Amino acid sequence: MTNKNTKEWRERTKAPSDTFCLLPWVHLSTRPNGHMRVCCTANASSVGPTNDKEFGGEVGILKQADGKPANLNVTDLMSSWNNDYMKNVRKQMLNGEKPPSCLKCYAEEDAGHMSKRFWETEYWARRVNLQEIIDETSEEGEIPPKIRYLDLRLGSKCNLKCVMCSPHDSSLWIPDWIKLHPTIENESLKETMQWGNKGQIDGATYNWHKSNTEFWKQLYKQIPHMKQLYFAGGEATIIEEHYTLLEEVVKRGYASDIILRYNSNGIEMPQRLFDLWDQFKHVRFHYSVDSIDKMNDYIRYPSEWDHTVKMFHLLDNTGPNVEVTVACAVQALNIYYLPDFVKWKLEQNFKKINLWPLGAGMINYHFVYHPPHLNVKVLPNWFKEMTHAKFDKFIEWLEENWKLCMGDSDASYEQWRQANYGIKRLQGMLSFSESGDWSRERMPEFIEYINKMDGIRDTNFRDVFPEMAPLLDWKSEDGDDWDGEFDDRLLRELEDDGFHVNQEELYRDKEEL
Ligand code: SF4
Ligand code: SF4
Repeated sequence: MTNKNTKEWRERTKAPSDTFCLLPWVHLSTRPNGHMRVCCTANASSVGPTNDKEFGGEVGILKQADGKPANLNVTDLMSSWNNDYMKNVRKQMLNGEKPPSCLKCYAEEDAGHMSKRFWETEYWARRVNLQEIIDETSEEGEIPPKIRYLDLRLGSKCNLKCVMCSPHDSSLWIPDWIKLHPTIENESLKETMQWGNKGQIDGATYNWHKSNTEFWKQLYKQIPHMKQLYFAGGEATIIEEHYTLLEEVVKRGYASDIILRYNSNGIEMPQRLFDLWDQFKHVRFHYSVDSIDKMNDYIRYPSEWDHTVKMFHLLDNTGPNVEVTVACAVQALNIYYLPDFVKWKLEQNFKKINLWPLGAGMINYHFVYHPPHLNVKVLPNWFKEMTHAKFDKFIEWLEENWKLCMGDSDASYEQWRQANYGIKRLQGMLSFSESGDWSRERMPEFIEYINKMDGIRDTNFRDVFPEMAPLLDWKSEDGDDWDGEFDDRLLRELEDDGFHVNQEELYRDKEEL
């Protein structure tokens, strides 16, 4: 069924079908172990039924003719570009069907959220000739060998071991995983946290970028078509091949045509990086920070807030071609505290970080789908109600202080209020979290995970997240309606502040959708 958002989006982008996305025509994405995928969202784990065996498992990972993953240890870049998997995705989209690899986008749209499909298609429709691209597509879904946008994950070398991450993406996680995994009792948690054959399945290794010379030859041949290079986990800023690639692009004279995009923890930012950035057309740096103070240190372990703040200021003083946004990974551990984070950010009065219209002048968010025990849907209803009440109160504050989001812009209140990434986004997050209740199934996993990670890292969840501490006392017989003492105290605090928790108000957005 076409909803209003899809209709408006099609009118703006001239997309040939309701299910179309431009990415499979311009883009390929890699995993740190060398697997290739339609895009990073296509293969985000925990996308629900799309990871069923019925669809061959590992949905969104490109497959070769024998059904095995197209991995850069055993294949190359260009033969995957037009393999049967990619051709099928394109054909299905042109026919108005929903490829299994992309169900996460469609589900997010159904929950009222701006999906990656919507914004990426809108972005690329302004930069390529969409009609020409469609005309060049054969009936089988084959297209010319021109990659405009590559998402590169050059192995898993990382200097953090974030609580929602794993050894699949971070080398620093390995020692903790070795301690954690054998001790896990909950079967489902054990399955979630598995790291089959240390990531070396179907020829995958985290060193693929060091050994596949054909990949680099083909990539350099694509540089004249390239408009965007995107680097994400491990941590590109400490991966040597990332620097080699940038230097090679500069040497070949294409840097001024190419936009660089990063999701980075920003722990190490050497001068060499900024010198290279100066040569590129534009740099979009998405700084991965998830909360403030010791909460961020707990989530983005073992970062230190003082250093994080220092890097905020370093990034705020970068060259004019560098755009900086905060990429906040929304999960069970931080959704309640997001208003505090946004408020902190607004109070810093940064010169360039997330200036309007980026994130409506606040911060940018994306959901953590995996691991499922940290997905926002794991939270029991009473905690979601607390969160909703806090957001409502914060939105009232934002409406009074909206000018803090605007910098020097003279955009109107109405423009700010209607921005997709502003209040609408905050409300969309609540709708998403309330659209499913996984607490009965997943809270035991959450509790075991947090307790064991605290033991391994010598952290203290109860101290760091006092408002969430009662979650650790949840018992399965409490079910979804558990109403702990702390719950009442929070409600009273909110009411003391003049806020009245009203169930109808809380679920207003959900009902409208
Ligand atoms: S529809 Fe979504 S998941 Fe599929 S390619 Fe586009 S952005 Fe990626
Ligand atoms: S910075 Fe990224 S790759 Fe590194 S541990 Fe955190 S989430 Fe994982």
